[in-house]
Amino acid sequence: MKILKFGGTSVGSPERIKSLLDIINPKEKQIVVLSAVSGTTNRLVEISQAFLNNDKSKATKLINNLHHFYTKFISELFSTPEGLEQGANLVNYHFSFIHSFANDLFTPLEEKIILAQGELISTTLYQFYLNEIGVSSKLLSALDFMKIDEDNEPDVAFISEHLKPILADYPDHTLFITQGFICRNSFGEIDNLRRGGSDYTASLIGAAINAEEVQIWTDIDGMHNNDPRIVSGTKPIARLSFDEAAELAYFGAKILHPQSVFPAQKYKIPVRLLNTMDPKAPGTLITDDSERGKIKSIAAKDGITAIKIQSSRMLLAYGFLRRVFEVFERYKTPIDMITTSEVAVSVTIDDTRNLEEILSELNRFGTVEIDSDQTIICVVGDFAAQTHGYASRVFEALKHIPIRMISYGGSSYNISLLLKTDYKVEALRSLHSRLFE
Ligand code: ASP
Ligand code: MG
Repeated sequence: MKILKFGGTSVGSPERIKSLLDIINPKEKQIVVLSAVSGTTNRLVEISQAFLNNDKSKATKLINNLHHFYTKFISELFSTPEGLEQGANLVNYHFSFIHSFANDLFTPLEEKIILAQGELISTTLYQFYLNEIGVSSKLLSALDFMKIDEDNEPDVAFISEHLKPILADYPDHTLFITQGFICRNSFGEIDNLRRGGSDYTASLIGAAINAEEVQIWTDIDGMHNNDPRIVSGTKPIARLSFDEAAELAYFGAKILHPQSVFPAQKYKIPVRLLNTMDPKAPGTLITDDSERGKIKSIAAKDGITAIKIQSSRMLLAYGFLRRVFEVFERYKTPIDMITTSEVAVSVTIDDTRNLEEILSELNRFGTVEIDSDQTIICVVGDFAAQTHGYASRVFEALKHIPIRMISYGGSSYNISLLLKTDYKVEALRSLHSRLFE
């Protein structure tokens, strides 16, 4: 069994939905995981925001706009009177349901129910469409098997235990369809895997049923070895190991939801990143094997803030770093890069919502300095210590650029560097020509 996930743009218009059958072969055993039609989840977030602000007239207006969009959508998707009627009934049902929240107390719980409507609509529309053209399929409700626990961690054992019997109930079906993103939490309430979470759904399902492979279909021909918007001549990376993909996912979150590497890695399910616009292209294959001695990719992430804490109390002391990290923990702020000297430590964060509070607590430890508008540049590949002198080639490529932090040796798959965002373009281009050309 294969898992095929299609994102919002792949179901973004009636034509795109129809052309999915160029990729999906209904005779093959597979589970197709769909996102909401592109833009829908953002609209649902806005609607929920309006409800949260108790701005009912704004909410009504937004709901009507989205309803209108779908009315047009179904008029182009279906061609028979029955199809058109089924589609209209479905859409009307979901939008009157969304309107009904105007009468309730609105909490984050209601918000999650509203956010779930996008995937519920897209998957049902697809099933109705297949039905209209005489292709048999079985629609599964992700809410019957996708589950997260008290810590919001997906429960693969639960998913496996609940999904396998459902599949076994339909031995003659080959094409199953289900929703990405949505799930139930430990209270049984409707919840989700966070924005962009449909990839995660596909990977979790793949892990839970020990699938042959997980295919993530997007609009790009796999992960590229550098940012194509900045560097010319980038190429799709043919093969990545799970470890390399995990390093890159943080940077290339738009291609692959960062978390989705882990279930596939743990259960050794190959993941393929493929392009709906060019289905024959090989894309990127992510597996357990790593290719020795190769640099795979250069990636960058902007919007980084570096914080330096300098303190003589750090010298020969223990427990200092723990106390520093606890501050970040209290403010639920993840640290990305760390470098230390004997009397100072620098860390980077990208979530600055609690920066003020964090700084005022850190001030108790010593002198604190911050540098904003920084970029992390990450070079991923086989950096196993003794091989190839890649590290020196990285530094050679950047010798004309001031570097704020360097992190090497955390894993043998990457070198990360922090520099001012102003130097990013030059750094990416120079690294590209040194490492790949
Ligand atoms: N529809 C959800 C979102 O926009 C999940 C996804 O597309 O992956 O975040
Ligand atoms: Mg996505």
